[in-house]
Amino acid sequence: MHLTFTCHPPGMLAAMTAYRCPQDGTLAETTALTWCCPVCRGPWDLDFEITGTLSPGSLAGRVNSLWRYEEVLPLAAPATTLGEGRTPLVPLTGTVSAKLDFLMPTLSFKDRGAVMLAELARRLNPDRVVADSSGNAGTAVAAYCARAGLPCTVYVPEGTSPGKTEQIRAHGARLETVPGAARPRRWPPGPPRTPRAPSTPRTSSTRTSCTAPRPTCTSCGRTSAGACRTPSPYPSATGRSSSARPSPPPNSSPRA
Ligand SMILES: [Zn+2]
Repeated sequence: MHLTFTCHPPGMLAAMTAYRCPQDGTLAETTALTWCCPVCRGPWDLDFEITGTLSPGSLAGRVNSLWRYEEVLPLAAPATTLGEGRTPLVPLTGTVSAKLDFLMPTLSFKDRGAVMLAELARRLNPDRVVADSSGNAGTAVAAYCARAGLPCTVYVPEGTSPGKTEQIRAHGARLETVPGAARPRRWPPGPPRTPRAPSTPRTSSTRTSCTAPRPTCTSCGRTSAGACRTPSPYPSATGRSSSARPSPPPNSSPRA
C-alpha cells in the first residue's frame, strides 16, 4: 500500500524522527509530503526511537485500542481510533497460536497500520489522502480517514472483490478502478526469479498427516477440514457496520 498526503503540512509529530530509505539511506522529515524516496523511488521506512517504557502492569484500565501502547508507538496522544487491536490469541499447538485479526473493525490486520496513517494524516491536515490497495488496506484506510474526518481516494485494480469495493465506498471514500491486476510487490527489485521445477504429484503414500487442530466454523460450531457451507449470520458487506463484529470464540484471550 502506498499512501500519499496532498497538503501543506505543519504539525508536531511525537517520537517520529524521520523517513529513511532502506536502500540508499536517504532521509526526509516526517512532515514531508514525498511518499517515496526521491533517489530510488522505493518506499520509506519510518525511523523513530521509542521514547517511553511500557510494563504489563501499567496496562490495566487503559483505553481499549491499539493506543494503550502509545509509549512504544510512533505517535502519542492520538485522537483517531475505531477500537482496533486486542483481538484474541488462540493457542493451536504448544508453539503456534492464531491471532484473530479478522475481528478488527474493518475485518483485517490492516487496521493496525491504518490507524497510525490516519492519525498522522490528521495532524498534517491534508486536502485529501490517496491510497492504492488491492482490497483490505484500502478498506482500512477509507474507514480510518472517515473517522479522522479526512477526504480519501482509494485506487484499486480492476477485478478487486466487489465486497471490498463496496466496503471502501461505504466508508465514504472515492473509489477509482485502474486497469490491471494486483501483483505482490517485490522490494527491492532484483533479477527475474527462476521458475520452480515441477513438483512431483503427491500420492497417498507421500502425504503426511497434519496433527494441527482443524478450524471450527464460527457459524455452525462444527470442526471441518474444508470451507463450511453454513450461511453467515452476519450481514453482507453492503449492510455491514463496524458494530457488527463477530464474537470471539471461547477459550481465547484478548491480546494486543
Ligand atoms: Zn532510496
